[in-house]
Amino acid sequence: GPVSIPRDQHGISREQILPAARKVCDALQAEGYQAYVVGGAVRDLIAGIEPKDFDVATSATPEQVTEVFRRARMIGRRFKIVHVMFGRDVIEVTTFRGDSEAVTDEHGRILHDNVFGTMEEDAARRDFTVNALYYDPTTETVIDFHHGVADLKQKTLRMIGDAPRRYREDPVRMLRAVRLGAKLGLIIDPAAREPIRSMSSLLENVPPARLFDEMLKLLTSGHAVRCVRQLREEGLHHGLLPLLDVILEQPMGERFVMLSLERTDERVREGKSISPGFLFATLLWHEVLADWEKRKQAGEAAIPALFDAMGSVLDQQAEKLAITRRIATDIKDIWLLQPRFEQRAGKRPYRLLELPRFRAAYDFLLLRAGSGEVEQELADWWTDFAAADGPQREAMLRPEE
Ligand code: ATP
Ligand code: MG
Repeated sequence: GPVSIPRDQHGISREQILPAARKVCDALQAEGYQAYVVGGAVRDLIAGIEPKDFDVATSATPEQVTEVFRRARMIGRRFKIVHVMFGRDVIEVTTFRGDSEAVTDEHGRILHDNVFGTMEEDAARRDFTVNALYYDPTTETVIDFHHGVADLKQKTLRMIGDAPRRYREDPVRMLRAVRLGAKLGLIIDPAAREPIRSMSSLLENVPPARLFDEMLKLLTSGHAVRCVRQLREEGLHHGLLPLLDVILEQPMGERFVMLSLERTDERVREGKSISPGFLFATLLWHEVLADWEKRKQAGEAAIPALFDAMGSVLDQQAEKLAITRRIATDIKDIWLLQPRFEQRAGKRPYRLLELPRFRAAYDFLLLRAGSGEVEQELADWWTDFAAADGPQREAMLRPEE
């Protein structure tokens, strides 16, 4: 049964809970419903990390939740959840969910889990013990059904229930294990870790859009380098980003990808924004280079060959990873500008400098130089050119050929 853990053992005070989330719990409890802060936020607070968002789990149905709040919006088709708005804060409110009638496909993957359940059932359908913690802001207690608090303190990421079965239900849990392990500095329990190697191919059945979302979360977690290393150790990079396999096996490509991930991690940790387009452009660049080279060797002109290489690399990705159209446009913009950095005569450098995408393309060039793919001299030239005044720029230009 559940254990009720008092404040002095978990350390979370109600002041650490976003006021909006506290108000949601208070209001629902005042109407006689159960309501708790749940999941990632509770886990992160105990681990001493600032939560990204606060979710609430409740015994109230979505319809009942919308009756309690003035600004509430029901979303989702299969399983309705409610977004409650307080000023700029949005609290996601989810009704306790059971998995008793989960419908699975022939691989055991869950297709629908749209039945309401008890709090205990809601805890059991969550993935890891550290993710199944419920915090009551009123009593400042944590309700723990699966020894999640102890696991967190012992730095263990443990699956709730039988790990192979839980991976068959939802293969994305393998990626979550790696990401959460890296984010929280937890060791993946052997029972959850060992099946991954033999089950990783199940990720092929995951819809590409979901895989894209999860990869994006992983790459922007602030621990991308650690995650990618771990993915590789677990044999998970194969078939995931089909091209990540190849990239990680090319000496030049690997240096480039790792530099880019290091840079991304730094930016995330400094609280700066990161551009998914830039990130995916770096991951796939060496594939484009290889394909481009092949086409040029076959006699195709350089720029059309680059267009074709970009198209072919992105199409190949799309089978597994649904890169959104907007991000695909950003990726192509960055790639297409790369050959233009070679042109250092006449008016062309000025035009490049004026483009809105210059900054991203230039950052990309710096990474290329840092990994040894192009001369550092070229990157330095652009750094100087961008910083120079009019007469200095004129003096830097190369003679027209
Ligand atoms: P973070 O927000 O740091 O990315 P998180 O654990 O909060 O990590 P969310 O995707 O926000 O991840 O999910 C919220 C909660 O929902 C989780 O803590 C977990 O309890 C549950 N959950 C999410 N994804 C799954 C899954 N694939 N299987 C089972 N439970 C899940
Ligand atoms: Mg979360």
